[in-house]
Amino acid sequence: MPKSTRDDSHRDTRRRFEQWARNPQCQANVISAVHNIPMARVAEQETGRSTMGQSPFAIARGQAFEKSLFRNGGRLLLEALKRSRVLPDEAAGLADFRMRMHGGTCRNLDEALAGTADLLRRLAAKPGRPGRPWLVAGATVRIPGNTMLPEALLVIDALGIRHDESPPTLIVGEIKTYPDRGGYTDRQELATARAQAGVYVHGLDLVLAELDLTDEYRVARQGFLVLTRPGFNRPSIRVGEDLRYQAERAKRGFVLLERAAASMPGPSGTATPDSVIAAPISYSEACVSFCDRADTCRAKALEAGCGSVLGDDVARFLGATTLQRALDLLAGSTPANAAEQDLKRRMQDIEGLRSWR
Ligand code: SF4
Repeated sequence: MPKSTRDDSHRDTRRRFEQWARNPQCQANVISAVHNIPMARVAEQETGRSTMGQSPFAIARGQAFEKSLFRNGGRLLLEALKRSRVLPDEAAGLADFRMRMHGGTCRNLDEALAGTADLLRRLAAKPGRPGRPWLVAGATVRIPGNTMLPEALLVIDALGIRHDESPPTLIVGEIKTYPDRGGYTDRQELATARAQAGVYVHGLDLVLAELDLTDEYRVARQGFLVLTRPGFNRPSIRVGEDLRYQAERAKRGFVLLERAAASMPGPSGTATPDSVIAAPISYSEACVSFCDRADTCRAKALEAGCGSVLGDDVARFLGATTLQRALDLLAGSTPANAAEQDLKRRMQDIEGLRSWR
């Protein structure tokens, strides 16, 4: 079995799925996500710099928090999950499929993948066996099919198993280091964490079907988030996170992504940063929040007169009309077609609101 490689960190597909989902209209983004060519690499080649890299301090803090949760057989996290009633009082035992470099037991993702499938099969074959784990760290599943080239792997931060239910229930958990401030927790951060957990719910559905274990387990549509307590590196569990919509979104997304992957020319691994640079772009206001090429693409979009540089609502308002043409119409140009006529009328309606002031 090969040793763990740096490439393993790039085989976790969830990050690429989320990247694609933020702007699926952009062909460059699709190529980057499907062929696993990080936009940071593309931006470096294009402009000599990238800006979106995660802070090494944030990464180190996240890893330290996760290690503390799973230390001593996952004692800290098991206790927290029992306190919040995600798991019952009798819950005990951890199956650890995290990488060794992160404090786990697996040398690489292939080991984690085989170990997870083996665990699901063994538990289904002998449901009452003693010593069964109620918590799984780093459960790794492969999305069947060709969705991502060359493969689609998902690593689930924490997976609770309720053996006291029939069939046993799998409960997805996502670990984040930001503080749980009750009703004041950052809504965007929460939405992102739920989206990630929803991808795992969908991934588990697919993998159970592939393993012919659909009837042996139930995948809960409500998951849990593990956040920190404000000012402490101690876990705070948010229970009952509704993941139904997010799982549906992932289901639809993976189908669309599979179509996009299938329509791509050339076999897996043949795309390069140059392929991404050469592909058509479709700038949107979301780009600034996730893509290293946002500055470059915004400049191109501005030059082309795309309304999206002023926001997606403006782009929808303008339709196919460029910003430059919209300014001409405002300045008195005669509309060349029905669409321009309609746009001019709407802009004049807005102008008319001035008289209300
Ligand atoms: S910044 Fe550019 S390459 Fe990245 S998603 Fe947006 S339009 Fe596509």
